[in-house]
Amino acid sequence: MAKNYVIVGSGPAGITAAENIRKVDTRAEITVISAERVPMFYRPRIPEYAVGKLEIEALMVKTMNFYDQERIKLQLGVRAVKLDKERKIVETSEGKQYGYDKLLIATGIDPIMPSYPGRDLKGVFTMHYLYHADQMRIITKEAKEVVVVGGGLLGMDMAEELKKAGLEVKFLVRRHVLGDPFFDEYGCKLIQEEFACLGVNVFTGTEVQAFEGVDGKLAKIITTDGKQMESSFCFLSIGAVPAVNWLRESGLKIDKGVLVDGRLQSSEKDIFSAGNSAQITDPVSKKQIVQTNWFNASTQGRIAGNNMAGDEPMEYKATTNYLKKVGQLSFNLIGWGNAMVEMGQRTYFKGDNPREYIMITTREGVIVGAVVCGLPKISLKLKEQIEKQIVIPNLEKFIPQKEGKLDMLLKILA
Ligand SMILES: Cc1cc2nc3c(=O)[nH]c(=O)nc-3n(C[C@H](O)[C@H](O)[C@H](O)COP(=O)(O)OP(=O)(O)OC[C@H]3O[C@@H](n4cnc5c(N)ncnc54)[C@H](O)[C@@H]3O)c2cc1C
Repeated sequence: MAKNYVIVGSGPAGITAAENIRKVDTRAEITVISAERVPMFYRPRIPEYAVGKLEIEALMVKTMNFYDQERIKLQLGVRAVKLDKERKIVETSEGKQYGYDKLLIATGIDPIMPSYPGRDLKGVFTMHYLYHADQMRIITKEAKEVVVVGGGLLGMDMAEELKKAGLEVKFLVRRHVLGDPFFDEYGCKLIQEEFACLGVNVFTGTEVQAFEGVDGKLAKIITTDGKQMESSFCFLSIGAVPAVNWLRESGLKIDKGVLVDGRLQSSEKDIFSAGNSAQITDPVSKKQIVQTNWFNASTQGRIAGNNMAGDEPMEYKATTNYLKKVGQLSFNLIGWGNAMVEMGQRTYFKGDNPREYIMITTREGVIVGAVVCGLPKISLKLKEQIEKQIVIPNLEKFIPQKEGKLDMLLKILA
């Protein structure tokens, strides 16, 4: 009899898993349940959709033909609300029950909405799902100014896009330097220059204390350092958590996300998790981490799909490759787990062009992480080096404590 695979979530983790299940099991029944109203779209470009620069069609990753050809049944606009792992059933918001032989949880993350006073006022936004972006499209058209809160990668995207859409942008960053902790001092300087060129007003070392409103609408943002910013529009990006609350009563082992092993299998043999909803063990630091980027989500989806349907299990290796563009600068963040920000010695290398630079993180003679600004060919080389964990004899001896010349690093890598 054909096996029944249910996937909750239609992001890169869920859809890549479905594609790989089909490769291994041609007879499989595959159903994808997703809260989004449209099939998989390229979420990293959602800021451009939110400011009205792109229509949703431009974000679509696959045509509808793909789902027909691969015989993937999509249940869109439907939320999974309950898991009964004993009876192997997922229940949805519309009261339907889906039985499964194998289940994949690929529900991504939910943005954090902090408990600031006034957070429910109209005009205060977070964003992850398409419906958030739909609401933001309306206010972006009307507003003259916006306060963007949170200096992470998403905050930077929104500050840039909102400015390009013609709004006056005040950008509040909790850390004392914009770009920290992903970039070193030099990288942060380049990023700040980009925002200055864009005309975004960056306020560092500060955050929201409270929102004040008039008639239920946002009117003012009070900051922890005593500023009062008048605005009817605030975008908050201060972190996210795996979207796994619906599983809390199920008996499945959950911490921040669904706990999975190296094969992305959960505490239940027939349940897997991949992408932003899965919590894995960082192979270098051994810490529990959730990887929140597109590349890792689709890689995990591929491995989970294979392991759900096939007889030859694959192990997930956890190397990250995150592409980031800030103004005119392109960065590649590469590394094992959280290596780029958490461990080892960090050294940066500058070339003749001051906007081309590499920062590497080394540990016991091996490069475990890198940030590459410009230089796409070197990114590929470094990615291979990091993935294969090639030991470079006396690496730490060659590498000065804090900074060096790009030529020197290229010789070491050759
Ligand atoms: C604004 C923004 C910018 C980004 N920029 C970048 C970038 O530049 N580079 C990069 O690598 N990554 C970026 N990311 C992150 C990247 O998009 C995510 O890491 C990736 O989409 C995660 O894939 P996923 O499949 O794990 O989850 P998601 O893509 O989040 O998909 C999860 C799916 O699960 C569904 N879902 C959730 N709960 C339920 C439920 N209970 N029932 C049914 N369905 C449910 C959701 O509707 C969604 O379809 C960005 C993200 C955002 C929001």
